[in-house]
Amino acid sequence: MTLADAIDRLYDLHPGTTPMVEGSPHERPHKPLLILAALDLIDEGLASADRIPWSHELRDRFSARFLVVRKHNDQNSPENPFLYLQSEGFWQSWIEEDGTRIPLQSTPLVNQIGKVFARFTDGFEHLIAKPNKRQMLRESLISRYFPQLSYALQSISEIENPTFCVAEDARDSGRSPAFRRLILDIYDHQCAACGLRIRLASGNDVSFIDAAHIIPFSESRNDHPTNGLALCKNHHWAMDRDIIAPGPDLQWHVAKHLDPRRSNGEKELHELAGKSLLLPKDPAFHPHEGALLWRCERLSA
Ligand SMILES: [Zn+2]
Repeated sequence: MTLADAIDRLYDLHPGTTPMVEGSPHERPHKPLLILAALDLIDEGLASADRIPWSHELRDRFSARFLVVRKHNDQNSPENPFLYLQSEGFWQSWIEEDGTRIPLQSTPLVNQIGKVFARFTDGFEHLIAKPNKRQMLRESLISRYFPQLSYALQSISEIENPTFCVAEDARDSGRSPAFRRLILDIYDHQCAACGLRIRLASGNDVSFIDAAHIIPFSESRNDHPTNGLALCKNHHWAMDRDIIAPGPDLQWHVAKHLDPRRSNGEKELHELAGKSLLLPKDPAFHPHEGALLWRCERLSA
């Protein structure tokens, strides 16, 4: 199980949706929230990837985020995903009695705390055991399921200072925090056009590099890393204005109207033509071909 495979699996959870009678259907948040709560417990040393206790702490971590993301008639019910995550093929839950493990058949009750446990399986346990991989999986979940929310969901300690509520239109400028962190991690803070990498001391928030959507979020609703590209401010600006475009041949293309004689800025952009995109090592994270085609077709004549 590679990190990219795991991210794909998390993107394809079967979360269940609300019925149409409530207006626009929405995905239930329970499965991704329970995974986030389990990751919290592991961060805090209260669980490990192969032993996650059904506990008050787990329920608390679930509830804290649930209150932020709930919609319609969503119920604060961590017991449901604790059981039903098993259908995803990477989660097993059981009851322990006299040292024997009995597979969990029904949702656990509060009075079963201390007797019910779960673990990640199918290769997830190895990734989740590593703090940096765990963080990337966390960011993928938030990016996919809760993109409208901000730092409040990143780590539980930040929930006490809720600063969530990123405006929807802020997202296309690469300011969705989870998408941003994920893309910057994957590209190691390097612009995919010029290779510029400037990273100041205190982490992603002050990086000079943007996480750009290849097809804008407003159009694609797609925060998967294969719809992202790390770009410096200049190249992000130029791509958004269809002056440069990453192509399906994994090379940069430039608008024909650019005149390298006119200014140094245009000369520099013009020189990008035919250069390879600077991409992450793992091809599973390379941009989606359809997205690159979309970009190239929009390039100004
Ligand atoms: Zn650049």
